[in-house]
Amino acid sequence: MYPQWLFTKNGEPRQIPIVQSTTFKYDTSEDMAKLFDLEASGYFYSRLQNPTCDYVAAKLTSLEGGTAGMLTSSGQAANFYSIFNIANCGDHVVSCSAIYGGTFNLFSVTMKKMGIDFTFVSPDCTEEELNAAFKPNTKAVFGETIANPALSVLDIEMFARCAHAHGVPLIIDNTFATPINCRPIEWGADIVTHSTTKYLDGHGSAVGGAIIDSGKFDWMAHKEKFPGLCTPDDSYHGITYVEKFGLEGAFITKATAQLMRDFGSTPAPQSAFLLNLGIESLHVRMARHCENALKIATYLSTNDKIAWVRYAGLKGDKYYDLAQKYMPDGTCGVISFGVKGGRKAAEKFMKSLKLAQVETHVADAKTCCLHPASATHRQMSDDELLAAGVTPDLIRYSCGIENADDLIADIEQALQNV
Ligand SMILES: *Cc1c(COP(=O)(O)O)cnc(C)c1O
Repeated sequence: MYPQWLFTKNGEPRQIPIVQSTTFKYDTSEDMAKLFDLEASGYFYSRLQNPTCDYVAAKLTSLEGGTAGMLTSSGQAANFYSIFNIANCGDHVVSCSAIYGGTFNLFSVTMKKMGIDFTFVSPDCTEEELNAAFKPNTKAVFGETIANPALSVLDIEMFARCAHAHGVPLIIDNTFATPINCRPIEWGADIVTHSTTKYLDGHGSAVGGAIIDSGKFDWMAHKEKFPGLCTPDDSYHGITYVEKFGLEGAFITKATAQLMRDFGSTPAPQSAFLLNLGIESLHVRMARHCENALKIATYLSTNDKIAWVRYAGLKGDKYYDLAQKYMPDGTCGVISFGVKGGRKAAEKFMKSLKLAQVETHVADAKTCCLHPASATHRQMSDDELLAAGVTPDLIRYSCGIENADDLIADIEQALQNV
């Protein structure tokens, strides 16, 4: 929260101040020492905490129904911190295999080098299959509410039940659904992460991430698994995080005091300000994203030039029932589909679009579109693409908040050229 001196009683600023300051001043060294000992709360250095960033983190925390939260400089940093805060070299994590490509690489390559081992399970796995993935050194379970780009929907309750049965927390990346459409904590998730770069920002203006803790996971009940939270931290004056900050504050305080201190993936206050602007209209934008996506998915599903459509909000989709359970008001604005005629036809379609922009970005106010086979995955043969779960005809279409009829007219004229 902002210190009171930022505000006058009357005529306070309508927007949040950007506290563009690396450091903060104190009357005496003793006052400052209390902060370093985590005896008093306050600001001392923006690598760890900044008032503008904290204001926005608190807003996201309340949107997700958590007890504590922090912003990070990217979604990658948020997912890395959320796991590295509780898993060390020699530990193991169970993750859904349908996750963002960057996260998959972080887990399977970079964190593996740090000595943390991952077992990947299908988003469609049975409870028995999921249970079989746990090991004595498992420290967390990870998944995405709606997977980017697979668009599968996670059975959050089932994943939470299995995680808790093995004494570990469930971490959910809620980037695509946003807290407007799904609040994973209400379904049993313990920690929620975001790439705020997507819908939360919503305008393609600032890369960022967030971690929110539900405050519900009982670390002390599994003390032996989580020594970092349940035994004294020698790098912080022997503090035991759970004892000092309670279940509601321990996870985020540790991530700030240790990981932000040492890795410094802190967002700029200016980026937090931009994120806050995006969040102010999130509830209006998400409804429109979903309305547009459903209209376009419905249109595509009846078009004879289209081979297939994937959108969990569309009746008949493999994930429709799960989406109805977890996101009855709508899922997200991203759909994927195949153009009949394979790679060549998809390339022609992409070239012919006028309104939708060709980008790798998704989940933005302006419609964007990607053909992985001719862009991000262009070096792969059709067989290699299929093995990676990407068909040569696949087009990922991220519906913006424009007029749906204009978007459909754009798709229609592009299909005429195919
Ligand atoms: C984009 C994305 C990320 C990575 O976030 P960055 O902000 O790009 O670092 C993580 N998870 C999901 C689901 C994403 O879509």
